[in-house]
Amino acid sequence: MLMLTNYSLKKYHTFGTDVYASYFTEINSVNDFKALQKEAIYTSHTSLILGGGSNLLFTKNFNGLVIKNNLKGIDIVKQDADFVYVKAAAGENWHQFVLWCVNHNYGGIENLSLIPGCVGASPMQNIGAYGVEIKDVCHEVNTIDVNSGEEKKFSNVACKFGYRESVFKHVYKNKYLITSVIFKLNKKPVFNTSYGAIEQELKNMGITQASVKAISDAVINIRSSKLPDPAKIGNAGSFFKNPEVSKQKHDELKQQHPNLVAYVLDNGNYKLAAGWLIEQCDFKGKRFGDAGVHVNQALVLVNYGTANGSEIYNLSQQILDAVQKTFGVTLEREVNIY
Ligand code: FAD
Ligand code: NAP
Repeated sequence: MLMLTNYSLKKYHTFGTDVYASYFTEINSVNDFKALQKEAIYTSHTSLILGGGSNLLFTKNFNGLVIKNNLKGIDIVKQDADFVYVKAAAGENWHQFVLWCVNHNYGGIENLSLIPGCVGASPMQNIGAYGVEIKDVCHEVNTIDVNSGEEKKFSNVACKFGYRESVFKHVYKNKYLITSVIFKLNKKPVFNTSYGAIEQELKNMGITQASVKAISDAVINIRSSKLPDPAKIGNAGSFFKNPEVSKQKHDELKQQHPNLVAYVLDNGNYKLAAGWLIEQCDFKGKRFGDAGVHVNQALVLVNYGTANGSEIYNLSQQILDAVQKTFGVTLEREVNIY
């Protein structure tokens, strides 16, 4: 296994800042990882498992070992008349895996088309978009304990999925290497087009009968027209989560700000659109050197070229402070900070 030292991570993460890892290696199989676990560089350094690098921000050089996960393979593990269980290795590109499912007409993840990154990171924050989350289709997550090397399976319930949350993001952060995920997909798909933008886009496309492929195409169209492409402009998607507030807090805010964008949740609380809050604080489209807030979506922080991680982080702190001061609401960063 090739071990590189003082290695540039610039092309391995979507913010594209110029940071270095003390050590860098790539694993192509579970056996590679098991062999790595016996090496002194692994046992004596902090390590970071890297997928597509689309949900993290390096504020400084990484003083440790970065392990790029390249585990590959897509297999059907079982099926019946209604469902198919598909196992995808952690290093598979997420969008390519979605397209594989779409091509087989397996329903469940078409709304999650065009999300950057790898399959292995998908349970980390229970990726979600357009009314669908991984928790709706995740059957099992296969892992290896990064300390003991023991293999462990997590059922859907054991993953403790929440809004952009799972047991892997906090309690077990950096404790398990996710090696593969088994998805339970539908052979007789039930479509979720309730997000306004999808229905409108299907109409624009002249589609009268929803299908797995049509929804995937609609989501790809919407996302391509709205979101910055990390290959062209550095970003990690939504930098903050949408905050959840009580009904009382929501009602107070609604009185002061009649245009407040909010959605009622099953528990009676409200989810506020963080992008709207940030926009009201006048950050949308603002640029501070090469760090900025995207012109179309205020939730997305961008690197116009040479911004470094601390500049982007400091901008996120300014936004947090402004939203706190203006609305009395505390934003939480969604992006993993290193
Ligand atoms: P990385 O950034 O490489 O890693 C993220 C975290 O997971 C790190 O802490 C890393 O150590 C850990 N990790 C990665 N792989 C493993 C593994 N195999 N085992 C254990 N830990 C691991 N997210 C959404 O939820 N919905 C969206 O709609 C969405 N849209 C986006 C749009 C854009 C333009 C961008 C840039 C990002 C978007 N994201 C979205 C965020 C991001 O794409 C997802 O969170 C994605 O799942 C991250 O995958 P990754 O492989 O790039 O993870
Ligand atoms: P949008 O459609 O303009 O919606 C803005 C916000 O309102 C979203 O955050 C969304 O919440 C919420 N929303 C819209 N319609 C809703 C409905 N019918 N019910 C409940 N909540 C609703 O958002 P966008 O920026 O273009 O993104 C579209 C989708 O892609 C969203 O689901 C978003 O989460 C996802 N996305 C995520 C990332 C990321 O990095 N995490 C990046 C880009 C896009 P939700 O976010 O809870 O869906």
